[in-house]
Amino acid sequence: MGIQAAPADDSAARWDLSIVITAASLEPSRDVPMPTPHIAAVDDAFAEAVLLHQAKPDKKAAWRRAIELLRLVGVPDPAERVKQYPHEFSGGMRQRAMIAMALANDPAVLIADEPTTALDVTVQAQILELIERIKGEYQIGVILITHDLGVIADVAQTVMVMYAGRAMELGARHEVFGKPLHPYTKALMSAVPIPDPVVEDTRERILLAGDLPSAANPPSGCRFRTRCPWAQPTKCASDRPPLVESRPNHLVACHWVDEIEAGTLRPHAVEAELVRPDDELEIPTLS
Ligand code: SF4
Repeated sequence: MGIQAAPADDSAARWDLSIVITAASLEPSRDVPMPTPHIAAVDDAFAEAVLLHQAKPDKKAAWRRAIELLRLVGVPDPAERVKQYPHEFSGGMRQRAMIAMALANDPAVLIADEPTTALDVTVQAQILELIERIKGEYQIGVILITHDLGVIADVAQTVMVMYAGRAMELGARHEVFGKPLHPYTKALMSAVPIPDPVVEDTRERILLAGDLPSAANPPSGCRFRTRCPWAQPTKCASDRPPLVESRPNHLVACHWVDEIEAGTLRPHAVEAELVRPDDELEIPTLS
């Protein structure tokens, strides 16, 4: 799937990708003193999104499309609201307007980057419901980028866990959430609170030391090695682990996934101290 140029006959145009970014991006920049001449009313922002991709730009048609899409995403009184500026919209309405704009060119895939950031929980639920509805009605794929595990648990079918720009784990949501295999995913899951005090008191937490490495100068080998409790000084530092199928339809990028799962490599142990299954059973012989 790639980004395609629109065909000359725009009536047949179906753009492959469209991006929804966080609604805050419609807000005026704090670095620019008010009044800010670059702030566009919602109809102008829409017109720009639509007209840029049309061989024969038609402003009236773009305006009608804006009203139709604002109505579709649940913006009340769209013929009036379309003339307003983004700062006149609430956070949730701004996000709806962003989604409407992303749909303007009939994409096959919608990339929603942190679409629920800075929204309260009730509005967050409405936006997720809207994305779900649009997915069905428009028959489009949605790639949701978020740091919020609750959102992923709610809507995702397939999950890819990324760290420092690399894919660490990929699988069906129930697999990745139910049986995380990569050390980073394990640490993420262990940080999610469980509303059961008994389970919460007894379960193991994986605490990661240090900070995210610099993207400009990432660690060699495995990018997670500077924070991974299972990191080994040899392979983890020298070889980049490929993302491979470790279990059926469950891909992991870790050299030691099998040893970690079997419990033969323990946190903060080195390769030389790998626990052999019969170590504990060894019976000293009497001479
Ligand atoms: S490859 Fe090494 S550093 Fe990376 S996640 Fe696996 S054990 Fe940790």
